[in-house]
Amino acid sequence: MQPIEDFFPLLEQKKKIVITTHQKPDGDAMGSSLGLYHFLIKLGHDVTVISPTNWANFLNWMPGVKNVVDFEMYQHKAKDIIAEAQILFCLDFNTLSRIKNMQQSIEQANCIKVLIDHHQEPQTAAFNYGISNTKKSSTCEMVYDFIIQSNHQDLLDVEIAACLYTGTMTDTGSFRFPSTTASVHRMVAHFLDLGLDHAQVHNNIFDNFLENRLRFIGNALLNRMEVFYEYNTAVMCIPKTDLKKFDIKTGDTEGLVNFMQSITGIKLAAIVIDREEERKWSFRSKDGFDVNEFARKHFQGGGHAAAAGGRSSDSLETTYKHFLTVIKQYETELNKN
Ligand code: 5GP
Ligand code: MN
Repeated sequence: MQPIEDFFPLLEQKKKIVITTHQKPDGDAMGSSLGLYHFLIKLGHDVTVISPTNWANFLNWMPGVKNVVDFEMYQHKAKDIIAEAQILFCLDFNTLSRIKNMQQSIEQANCIKVLIDHHQEPQTAAFNYGISNTKKSSTCEMVYDFIIQSNHQDLLDVEIAACLYTGTMTDTGSFRFPSTTASVHRMVAHFLDLGLDHAQVHNNIFDNFLENRLRFIGNALLNRMEVFYEYNTAVMCIPKTDLKKFDIKTGDTEGLVNFMQSITGIKLAAIVIDREEERKWSFRSKDGFDVNEFARKHFQGGGHAAAAGGRSSDSLETTYKHFLTVIKQYETELNKN
């Protein structure tokens, strides 16, 4: 993977560009993709964002989201666009397995591939150019840096700012995680100077759900959570029946794992959700417990040191029991002060 500086000259002539991101894109995945999309269009390129799957409704206010192609829904159209692309940007994921059914099309695509990402252990061999920086708060912040570095920062506008603010806000837990550096705040100040209405972005993302989601959360906290103080661990196990009963859609379960971290002393918070095709795990940690390594080793996943995910093809009960067995191995580490 060559450094991104060497890539900029390729943007001097009009190109057909595809931007993609990880499956079930979150605020950072969609925000960085659409922020880059608007920028590259302003630079004069022909740009399409393709998402491997659908996404949460709370992202549907974002400028340009109506033009995003859902690969699962429009496979033929998406494959044709990928086949014609001259440049492909992969944002907010480290390995091609995170793009689900799109993996083969992307691997086979005969074009220049560029990675912009902040996850650990990126699959650099799969990309021609790129930036991987695990210290960055979000891929949105990296797209902002990319725009500044390209020397076209005059093209930044309020729409790009809204997209990039979204992912920075969601990936930093609303600017509370240690990844929220002075540079992040300086970038946000720049967005405000451009006219960004940050309170509106917050409303769009966090205050835009249906009643059933809140009742689902209430039920999960009351009936689906177990706390193991001997391991400073809280875990939630969500069966399919709950998802059906409360009519849970993509994105409705996002953030649920974070509630458990508010219990004093909890170092590891975990949730497993019985999805159609797999049991999906999310892990969060405090005080240095490395969930990236934990997810990699035991749950076919990865992510960041304090926030990671994984999966299992076992039944919900089996994978839950596996988790309970595994945390016993970490008793000492989870009890360190
Ligand atoms: P979440 O729990 O919010 O889905 O994900 C937390 C972090 O871990 C995100 O940065 C996400 O991209 C990453 N992540 C989630 N699931 C997986 C996975 O299955 N594999 C890898 N490598 N990363 C994941
Ligand atoms: Mn991210």
